[in-house]
Amino acid sequence: MAEAIEKPAKDTEREEVEEEEEERTFEELGLDARLTRALIKKGISKPTPIQRVAIPLILEGKDVVARAKTGSGKTFAYLVPLLQKLFADFGSRNKLAPSAFVLVPTRELCQQVYTEVSSLIELCRVQLKVVQLTSSMPASDLRTALAGPPDILISTPACLPKCFSAGVLQPASINDSLEILVLDEADLLLSYGYEDDIKAFTSHIPKRCQCLLMSATSSADVEKLKKLILHNPFILTLPEVGD
Ligand code: ADP
Ligand code: MG
Repeated sequence: MAEAIEKPAKDTEREEVEEEEEERTFEELGLDARLTRALIKKGISKPTPIQRVAIPLILEGKDVVARAKTGSGKTFAYLVPLLQKLFADFGSRNKLAPSAFVLVPTRELCQQVYTEVSSLIELCRVQLKVVQLTSSMPASDLRTALAGPPDILISTPACLPKCFSAGVLQPASINDSLEILVLDEADLLLSYGYEDDIKAFTSHIPKRCQCLLMSATSSADVEKLKKLILHNPFILTLPEVGD
């Protein structure tokens, strides 16, 4: 398999991906039995190449940039370890803001990710709350959605300034609560005009926050985002067949 893992300069421990890893199951990647069973119920029994390399790194808490073509399974590559981390944390939190933010470029993708994560949560029978925000929501709906607060927030970046100005998200709470930030379809986020919203948000991300950037390409925009939010990330690249 022609996959490439670029190691961060400081990490010398990780060896090259070995051939036998191609046969690894979700369980062997370190996945919780509840999640493995949930995936099987959804008809998914074997990790895709990007899932095989991304899941263990994300479970280890590494920042990751995952580049792989559309349809390669990037959604579960981040959602599944993200959920596992929240399961582990469950019960020990007293948060004022969500633990995980997933930022996506379109409303459609927001709905898609929301449906996938809700279905996994239901199949795992865990008490995690997930919400999706849309930029057309009035402040009162944003306030209701964020009351609690939810564990996972899925949104386009445009909703964030609105949440701040309406006072339903506080920078200090984000700094206190945010554990994982995902930018999905990162190659589209800047071209869709979200640069300022993302920049404004990054100033509130705590240093400990794990950042994951998923993308179908390695455009200049992805490089820009990488510099903006990631600390010494692992870069995973799955080239197109024929590369
Ligand atoms: P990407 O984000 O890389 O474009 P998606 O995450 O949307 O790809 O996945 C594409 C399709 O592949 C979805 O229908 C998803 O349910 C399916 N899928 C994801 N992981 C697996 C897997 N391990 N085995 C089989 N199908 C999978
Ligand atoms: Mg995707």
